[in-house]
Amino acid sequence: MQAKYPDDNFEAVIRKNATSGIYEFRIKCADCPGKHYTPGPGESLQNFEVHLKNRQHRSKVNARLHPQPSETS
Ligand SMILES: [Zn+2]
Repeated sequence: MQAKYPDDNFEAVIRKNATSGIYEFRIKCADCPGKHYTPGPGESLQNFEVHLKNRQHRSKVNARLHPQPSETS
C-alpha cells in the first residue's frame, strides 16, 4: 500500500473501542491530522484510497512535497 502511494504518509493504528472493548483497525493520514479512516470494505483499503484521491488531501501532499518558497509559515 505504501509502495503504491509513495508520496502519501499514513500509518495503521489499533484503537480500542471504549464501549465494546473491541480493538479496531484504523488508518491515520499524516497530512490530515485528526482524521482516522476505517479500512474496507472487507480486507481492502478502498475507503482510505478514496481519501488519498481527495482533492484537499492531494493539495496538502503537494504542499508538503513542493513547499512554496515565498510562503512564510
Ligand atoms: Zn489525507
